[in-house]
Amino acid sequence: MNAVKSIVKQQLPRWAGYQLKKIILGVRSIIYRGNAFYCPICQHGYSKFFDGGFDLPVIEQMQIIGAGRRKHIICPGCASNDRDRLVFMALKSPDLQLLPAGKILHIAPEPALVGFLQKKQQSDGNTYVMGVKYHEGFYYDNSVQLIDLTSLKFNDNTFDLLICNHVLEHIDDDEQAMREIFRVLKWEGKAILQVPWTPLLEKTYENEAIIKPEDRETHFGQFDHVRLYGKDYADKLRKVGFKVEKLTVNALIPKDKAREKLALNSKEVIFVATKPSTPHGNPSNS
Ligand SMILES: [Zn+2]
Repeated sequence: MNAVKSIVKQQLPRWAGYQLKKIILGVRSIIYRGNAFYCPICQHGYSKFFDGGFDLPVIEQMQIIGAGRRKHIICPGCASNDRDRLVFMALKSPDLQLLPAGKILHIAPEPALVGFLQKKQQSDGNTYVMGVKYHEGFYYDNSVQLIDLTSLKFNDNTFDLLICNHVLEHIDDDEQAMREIFRVLKWEGKAILQVPWTPLLEKTYENEAIIKPEDRETHFGQFDHVRLYGKDYADKLRKVGFKVEKLTVNALIPKDKAREKLALNSKEVIFVATKPSTPHGNPSNS
């Protein structure tokens, strides 16, 4: 099946790939209608969510949060996974007040969230910018700008909200990327910065000698990850100037039957980083 998928990906022109994906999701959305699960993003109930994620020994050994093979995580209708739905719930949370946001920068945008954010920003008369390092497969179209997170082409203090999930673990100089995120955010602007991390390590595990994809899988849990974050992840964000809030799933959404249907990972933590007020105490002039 995967071989067929990769042949299709190589042979189909991009536009045809997007259309095919849309058709598949549309058909699945009808076939799997039901009541066992509920997707808050496409707002339908389903009889089934598909399993997904990589299965590697290190993920289980290190109890890595935000990675690994998980049961019932992919929505048949919009292909959102458990992580996407959690970020969606955070975006909608009245407590977090992430939206409305005048200008949003979404790095490596999760396709399942793009439709919602595009519509929201448009209807509010606000700005939505998407950026990614490479255009690959059918994941991103040309509306997503090519950008380098370690050298962003935006002015200081530009964005109210920046969303950058599961990206920093791929970047050699993650501290520089964090500095850039800090720089382009407005004073009091916020960023959602999810990464896979392990509660079993006090300190993030990095080893520059580990560069082969198979070794990275063994050590970091994915062929293209360059580190495994530990409990010090929030401290790294604090080091570049952020205030960091860590919200558990329980703090975000009451634990009840309705939450169960969302098929979230209850071990996940949402990392919300805020660029504090300017030292001059007047954010609007910055
Ligand atoms: Zn959905």
